[in-house]
Amino acid sequence: DPRLQAISEAIRVIPNFPKPGIMFQDITPLLLKHKVFKDTVDIFVDRYKDMGISVVAGIEARGFMFGPSIALAIGAKFVPLRKRGKLPGKVICEDYELEYGKDCLEMHVDAVQQGEKAVVIDDLVATGGTLSAAIKLLECMGAEVVECACVIGLPHVKSRLNGRPLYILVEPSEL
Ligand code: IMP
Repeated sequence: DPRLQAISEAIRVIPNFPKPGIMFQDITPLLLKHKVFKDTVDIFVDRYKDMGISVVAGIEARGFMFGPSIALAIGAKFVPLRKRGKLPGKVICEDYELEYGKDCLEMHVDAVQQGEKAVVIDDLVATGGTLSAAIKLLECMGAEVVECACVIGLPHVKSRLNGRPLYILVEPSEL
């Protein structure tokens, strides 16, 4: 796909952010380029539009930058998966491992119904721990996770996703 090169080039690498030793993949320059931003969303939309998907679940915060546009274009709802304590209604919570310690991802219990088909969107997958928590939240409420989708990732992280497919547009340019 000729669009992928421009997407890859629009991702900026910031060394030592947020901590020394981390090469942070920054997608905000991609959002500044209308064509590249639109191409990114369009690739996901073309992939998911005819699959009977009724839920696009986006992971806080950068999954919120792509998920709603995809949801609107494919005729699905958008479900925010947020960090602890941010959602006001009744939630279910799933713990996941961070580099140091644990965090938790939450979803409103009334956001999805039994049997709905869902895709999970985030900007980047590293270990797959965050996506794996997202999958558990949706499956706990009876939704079927058809696929997880990220702009950036390494192809070999599939192991933690319990067999759910992972779709990645580009690999990180420097690590
Ligand atoms: P994982 O749980 O190890 O797969 O980490 C993925 C999560 O960490 C996602 O929610 C990403 O947004 C975030 N993340 C980790 N590294 C980066 C990065 O370099 N750029 C942007 N997000 C990152």
